[in-house]
Amino acid sequence: MASLLVLPGRAQAQAEGAAKAQVEAEAQSQAGAHVAKDRQEDPSNLTELRKEAEQAAKKLEDATKALEKRQATAKAAREQLKGKLLVLRESELQLGRIRQPVSELAELLYGQPIGADGVVPFLSGDTDTDTLRAMASVNYMVKTRQEVVERTSVLTERTESLAAEAQELRAGNLLAEAQLAAEVDLLRKQSDKIVKSLTAALVKLGIKIDKVGRAALGCNPLRATTAGNYPNGLIPGAMLCPLQQRGHSLRADATIAFVSLNEAYKQTFGRPICVTDAYRNLAEQQSIYYRRPGFAAVPGRSNHGLGLAVDLCGGVERFRSAEFNWLEKNGKRYGWFHPDWAYSSPFEPWHWEYDPKMDKLP
Ligand SMILES: [Zn+2]
Repeated sequence: MASLLVLPGRAQAQAEGAAKAQVEAEAQSQAGAHVAKDRQEDPSNLTELRKEAEQAAKKLEDATKALEKRQATAKAAREQLKGKLLVLRESELQLGRIRQPVSELAELLYGQPIGADGVVPFLSGDTDTDTLRAMASVNYMVKTRQEVVERTSVLTERTESLAAEAQELRAGNLLAEAQLAAEVDLLRKQSDKIVKSLTAALVKLGIKIDKVGRAALGCNPLRATTAGNYPNGLIPGAMLCPLQQRGHSLRADATIAFVSLNEAYKQTFGRPICVTDAYRNLAEQQSIYYRRPGFAAVPGRSNHGLGLAVDLCGGVERFRSAEFNWLEKNGKRYGWFHPDWAYSSPFEPWHWEYDPKMDKLP
């Protein structure tokens, strides 16, 4: 630049103009190069970690579902077996009812000798009615006894086979359940590990997280849905994750995506994104609503109360500024966008929102 200063008037202005254009072009192509680079490798490694966390959560969910399904199947099989055992018990009761008269009859016969001469009347042919009746009873008893023995052996066989079936079922289920439970346990550990790496990456990037305290919970992206269960403007502080920009917090997934966006923004503009507002509790929403009518959503209806919206400054608040245009172009890659309504009614160039669906990582 020093050599340009010696040039006289018009030529100098021209040269300066050309140099300025060149610097701008370089800046633009540099920004372009950064965007292209971001796509391949995230400088903060956060995108990769978020992707891993999401995948780990999905795997854990699938394995937990498989375990629950297996438990339900085992329960159904146990019920079925219980039904079979009930039928078997009924057969045994029936058999008991048959056994009873047979044993009574046997008692009767053995208790009352067939005749004073024992079996002689049979042999001599001198048989009276009582003897004949007794003989008929003996025949009946023998026949029935035979039947009872046969049915008992069938029932015993069935009992044994059902007992074996029950044992096999139990062993098989216990094994399968133990394997699945071990898998779930392993996946949970992996998921925890990834969330820990993610938390460590956030801390490295300047997020103030108490690693063992409750703040770490607020930055766990797998707990984002938990924060989503709270009513608008009533999310507990522990369920929110602080931004790099002091004093501001968002829902875990929104913060993590915003940090990635902020890192890319820094590479382009050399400074972090300026934030005026992020999560707003109900009292704050009410205060703004009544102080600046028409500038804020009806309290309890704002995405600020869900921890999913930010109001930005540092140039973004000016429609079509370089910062606004950059965010409009690159934000969506991180799930951050300028909602349609904010282009016109009310016109709020500073208001940006996060959509986890848009942020679905490939
Ligand atoms: Zn806003």
